Amino acid sequence: MRVIVESEKSCGLEEQEGSGVELLCVVRNLLKKIKRRVLVGDKVLVGSIDWVDRRGMIENVFERKSEVLDPPVANVDHLLVLFSLDQPKLEEFSLTRFLVEAESTRIPVTLALNKAELVDKETVTSWKSKLRSWGYDPIICSVETKDGLDSLQFNLRDQISVIVGPSGVGKSSLINALRSNHFGFGPAEVDDWSSSILGSKWLEDQRVGEVSARSGRGKHTTRHVSLLPLSGGGHVADTPGFNQPSLLKVTKQSLALCFPEVRKILLNSQPLKCAFSNCLHIGEPGCLVKTEWERHPYYLQLLDEIKIREEFQ
Ligand code: GDP
Ligand code: ZN
Repeated sequence: MRVIVESEKSCGLEEQEGSGVELLCVVRNLLKKIKRRVLVGDKVLVGSIDWVDRRGMIENVFERKSEVLDPPVANVDHLLVLFSLDQPKLEEFSLTRFLVEAESTRIPVTLALNKAELVDKETVTSWKSKLRSWGYDPIICSVETKDGLDSLQFNLRDQISVIVGPSGVGKSSLINALRSNHFGFGPAEVDDWSSSILGSKWLEDQRVGEVSARSGRGKHTTRHVSLLPLSGGGHVADTPGFNQPSLLKVTKQSLALCFPEVRKILLNSQPLKCAFSNCLHIGEPGCLVKTEWERHPYYLQLLDEIKIREEFQ
C-alpha cells in the first residue's frame, strides 16, 4: 500500500493506484523510535487492519528509490521544473539554479514554460532553441488558455511528480488545473481525496490533534503533504518544491554533471577522461569539456558559491 497523505498524526493509504484514501493508519511506535519517518509516496507494510473502520497500523516502510526533502516525498519518479515566460520574466541564471538543484537529485527532470500567451511566437522559438542547446526540450504551456496542458498531463502519467519552481510562475494554478481536470479533456474523473468519506475522517483526525496541541503549546497548525491522483494516471504532490534552491547536495565535482550539455560530453566520451581525475573543467590541460559553452559563466558562478560553502564546512 502507498501513503498518499501524511502528517505527524496519521497517514492515508491507497491500495489501488489512483483510488484515493482507502485506509487510515498510525505509525508503529517502534518505527518512530528509530526515527523512520513515513513520507508521502512511501510503500508500506500494514498490520492490525480493521476493514470495518478502515484503520490500520504502519509496521514497516519499504526501501525508497528516491527522496525529495522540500516537500518531503518518497519515491519521486519525476520533477517538473516550471518557469513562466513572463510575469515574472524568464531569467537564465535563476532557471539554471533550479535546474541544477533538480538534476542533483538524479530524478528525471522535465522543463515547462508557462504563461505562453503573454509573449510572442519569436520569443518562444528563441527560448526553445536556447534550451535545446542546454539539453532540454521544454513544454510550452499556459494554464490561462489551457494550451499545452494535455502534453503536461501526458508527461505526468503513471509517475509520482513534484512541481518545482520560483513563486508566481503558476505552480499552484497548474496543480489545481491538473487535479480538477477542468481543461476540456473529458469529464472530471478524479475525486479530491479530501472530499471522500475517509478523506474527511482523516482531516477530522488532524483537527482533533490541533485542538489538543493548541491547548498545550499554543497555536499549532498541522502541516500535511498529499499526493493528488491525476486523471491521466499518476500523482502530483499538492505542495510545490524547492522554494530556494540551496544546492546543498551539489559538490564541486558533481556540479558539471548537473548540466546535461556537459554530462553528455563527459559520459559519451568514456573511457576517455579528463587528464586530471579531479578536473573542474575550467580550462585545465587535457580537459574534455571546452570552456566556450553558453552556460559556462553560470557554471563558474555556482562553482564559486559551492567552493565557498565547502571551505566553511
Ligand atoms: P505559484 O506561486 O507558482 O504557485 O503561482 P500561482 O499559481 O499562485 O500563480 C501566480 C499568478 O499567475 C496568479 O495570479 C495566476 O492566476 C497567474 N497565472 C497562472 N498561470 C497563468 C498563465 O498561464 N497565464 C497568465 N497570464 N497568468 C497565469
Ligand atoms: Zn575537465
